[in-house]
Amino acid sequence: MHPFDASYEVAIVGAGICGLAHALAAARRGKRVVVVDRDAQANGASVRNFGFVTVTGQQAGACWERARRSRDVWAEIAPLAGVEVLQKGLLTIARRPEARLVLEAFLATEMGRECRLVEPRQLSQFGYGLRAENFAAALYSPHELRVESREAIPKLAAYLTERYGVAFLRATAVRGVEPPKLETSRGTLAAETIIVCPGDDFITLRPERIAAYGLTRCKLHMLRVKPRRHDARLPPIMSDLGLVRYAGYADLEPAKALRKRLKTEQGAQLDNGVHLIVVRSADGSLVVGDSHHYAATPDPFAPSSVDDLILDEYAHVFADGAPEVVERWTGTYASAPDRLMLVDKPSDALRIVLITSGTGASTSFAIAEETLADLFGR
Ligand SMILES: Cc1cc2nc3c(=O)[nH]c(=O)nc-3n(C[C@H](O)[C@H](O)[C@H](O)COP(=O)(O)OP(=O)(O)OC[C@H]3O[C@@H](n4cnc5c(N)ncnc54)[C@H](O)[C@@H]3O)c2cc1C
Repeated sequence: MHPFDASYEVAIVGAGICGLAHALAAARRGKRVVVVDRDAQANGASVRNFGFVTVTGQQAGACWERARRSRDVWAEIAPLAGVEVLQKGLLTIARRPEARLVLEAFLATEMGRECRLVEPRQLSQFGYGLRAENFAAALYSPHELRVESREAIPKLAAYLTERYGVAFLRATAVRGVEPPKLETSRGTLAAETIIVCPGDDFITLRPERIAAYGLTRCKLHMLRVKPRRHDARLPPIMSDLGLVRYAGYADLEPAKALRKRLKTEQGAQLDNGVHLIVVRSADGSLVVGDSHHYAATPDPFAPSSVDDLILDEYAHVFADGAPEVVERWTGTYASAPDRLMLVDKPSDALRIVLITSGTGASTSFAIAEETLADLFGR
């Protein structure tokens, strides 16, 4: 039956990871689900990110718990959907003694329980290619997963259709949501419950509700590099700059001293919100990022000076120095002054779910389960 002639129990606006996670959670409850997206193929934050499902470093409490649950769902769904898990774990490098103190404080928290401190001389067990002689320590976390988002997101959508019969309406903009119907650019759709997962579009649907949260948008620079040499055994890598950005570390007392030192030594990186994440792809290339610039409408320009700041940190961590850059792109996500995500409830049958931080790949599956439990019971 054509989607416009059918009647759905749940309609989801947005086919990014947030929308797909809600489609999965609804389908697993046996609901008839349709997903509507204005783009012909996935094009938002969900295909522009690292595909790095991060647990260690997420803010203590709900975000960390959601990341753990979402990681488990990724681990379960990936093989079923034909999504390859390319890397596991995380090695957070402390280049400075102040950064080592942050790692030690983290290990003393509940979140550090299954992680361990690695001395520089022990780093070779993870592979060659790191400038270990310049480090103060590292922290190994076993929790993380890395997928190639630009492949994983389409595969997840295909799996939802094949396994659960989820219908997808692409190249279809939703103009109005009033359960039990949605007004779209191609006609009216019938759905008892509607979940809006619009990414960083705060204007099209229920702008008056979204405006109350004082949101803005964040632009990030990303690079793909061809390393001159890189050991395939290395897990995803982060470094000192991440320890003052990721709340799980940055909220710890020793992070203050680290931030003070970074202000003197890497002030330009801090001013541009630069920290280092390096993950590996199947072809041996590395995805390297990123930076953070905030604006209601981020400009579309990507100055190379920002990329240079990212590559400068890369060169402090990796022995191969200046790798060849083979691809550059930017992405944007929603950002809130006071929260990492939000669920707005305009009515009993309508939810607006926004991931207002760079955590959607890591937390969406858990958030979706919570939304569905709230709508339909535990
Ligand atoms: C460069 C970058 C790196 C990141 N790295 C990580 C990372 O390593 N780990 C992590 O956990 N998170 C990371 N994030 C954050 C993560 O990618 C986002 O939090 C997540 O992708 C948000 O998912 P979403 O589905 O809400 O948004 P999106 O992926 O942007 O999807 C929203 C969708 O809604 C559709 N839409 C909106 N309005 C309408 C409408 N009216 N009608 C029809 N369709 C509509 C859009 O077309 C779009 O497809 C990163 C983000 C970026 C940009």
